[in-house]
Amino acid sequence: MSTVLSERQPSSAVVTQTYDVVVAGAGFAGLYMLHKLRQRGLSVRLYEAGTGVGGTWYWNRYPGARVDVESVEYSYSFSSELEQEWSWSERYAGQPELLRYANHVADRFGLRENMQFETRITSATYDESARRWQIGTSRGEKISAQYCVLATGFLSAANKPDFAGIDSYQGHQYQTSRWPHEDVDFTGQRVGIIGTGSSAVQSIPHVAQQASHLFVFQRTPSFSIPLRNAPLDREYEKRVKADYKEWRRRQREDSRAGFIAVNYQPASPNNKSALEVTPEERLADYEMRWASGGLCFYSSYIDLLTSIEANETLAEFVREKIRGRVKDQDVAELLVPTTYPILSKRLCADTNYYETYNRENVSLVSIKDTPIETLTPKGLWVGGKEYELDSIIFATGFDAVTGAISKIDVRGLDGQELNAHWQGAPRAYLGLMSAGFPNLFFLDGPCSNGALVSPMLLSEYQVEWVDRCIGQLGTEAGTAIEAKPDAEDEWMEHMNTVSAGSLLHLANSWYMGANIPGKPRALLAYLGGLINYKQQCEQGEAGGYGKFVVTR
Ligand code: NAP
Repeated sequence: MSTVLSERQPSSAVVTQTYDVVVAGAGFAGLYMLHKLRQRGLSVRLYEAGTGVGGTWYWNRYPGARVDVESVEYSYSFSSELEQEWSWSERYAGQPELLRYANHVADRFGLRENMQFETRITSATYDESARRWQIGTSRGEKISAQYCVLATGFLSAANKPDFAGIDSYQGHQYQTSRWPHEDVDFTGQRVGIIGTGSSAVQSIPHVAQQASHLFVFQRTPSFSIPLRNAPLDREYEKRVKADYKEWRRRQREDSRAGFIAVNYQPASPNNKSALEVTPEERLADYEMRWASGGLCFYSSYIDLLTSIEANETLAEFVREKIRGRVKDQDVAELLVPTTYPILSKRLCADTNYYETYNRENVSLVSIKDTPIETLTPKGLWVGGKEYELDSIIFATGFDAVTGAISKIDVRGLDGQELNAHWQGAPRAYLGLMSAGFPNLFFLDGPCSNGALVSPMLLSEYQVEWVDRCIGQLGTEAGTAIEAKPDAEDEWMEHMNTVSAGSLLHLANSWYMGANIPGKPRALLAYLGGLINYKQQCEQGEAGGYGKFVVTR
């Protein structure tokens, strides 16, 4: 992996730097945005807080981190040369390989010369007279840009709960989403992990192999299905590559969430109700998906997220599977989720997660009724008992979707703060632009379906939308585009309409902002599906951006 070292960066700047476009974030969305804008010949600067590219895959280096969408689908589709030349080693790529891929893309398309690392955008203020954004960075730089694109990621702002006594703890502390770059060796240690979401589900089997004892502190159990990772079948790769165009078309046009592979074949979503088929037919479908592995339950029956009765058929199927994977049935019952519908929180996909609880050196500690009271110098107190721990891993998730954006002090027309505009719930027409904030775009932001579809696919679509928009408007001084307040209102209403009756509302998930104390409870993602979303975006562009105010 190559990274640009801090020595090569300017330590500070005394003069205002001027660009056509500033992009924040060197994850997959930001990299592609930079590539597109460079192709237009615009002057672009991308700022990234880390020392290298990769976004999610730069920060989340915990043991076992791996994508749970098939690698052949979780990859850029914009360059057929890139598609053909890159070869994944596994069905689901691990974090190191995903990071190599991001670095390869940055090098292959010559993107690094327009990037600045170890620099966080801290503020963005719209100068109405110049119709430009005045941007401040963590290095004290002042930047002027006509357009600003926030590609800051929807799972990037780490959530570390403020546990009592946290500073008194004298052992090692780790956070899955801020994992050190060096290897961490837990051999011989008593380790505690807090959280049982996707990050924990992936890391627990690895940590358990090293630790002398692993204590898992679980507040709410997750539904997890087997990933069934394997070395990538070369015949399968050949088949996909021979027909990549059609494969991608089906991802875009014939899928619910942007992935189509089931049992190494492209498959259309099942549009039947789970309740209209016989129990035998339903069971056969679930068994087939269970055997296939990964997230293909998202393309199963159409009413799994709208009918609690339909949902229960799948929930009970997975509960029984959990019971079958865990030997101690008391432990199994603690691991069986009962308080929310399956799929209403992001499904986890694992490798030996439940089997790990069959190991003698692993203990599950339910903190549902007895929350962690305090951290102590030696460990933590819970349920009237002190657990002495050499290391604690916080797998406590993210201030999702809005977290990274809300950390930037964004002020639009009349000095209005974006955080104030989003108080109660984020508002953004198509998830791309907020009324009152001209020339400011969000990628994978709130009010779009980033959180609910394959992020790669949505990012590519949104990048191309933004690129077309900037391309059509041009960079003549004084040109600006802003979502009309009416368009934003209508979009929020449409979001509510398409999510009415969804079971997503029933879970305390990050989709709902409900995992962060004090965060307003609101569905942060668009539930209308990818195809509908794209139609809506096309309507937004129609009639010379009729849903926007364009000023020249
Ligand atoms: P998460 O799903 O939000 O899980 C956080 C865990 O920490 C939950 O078990 C939560 O319990 C617990 N927690 C939070 N605050 C706590 C507190 N104060 N006390 C005790 N427990 C607490 O976060 P994540 O595991 O990082 O995953 C987030 C998302 O990232 C996933 O849903 C997925 O979209 C993505 N992800 C994907 C992959 C992949 O592709 N393979 C891997 C990792 C992550 P409660 O449930 O009770 O709140």
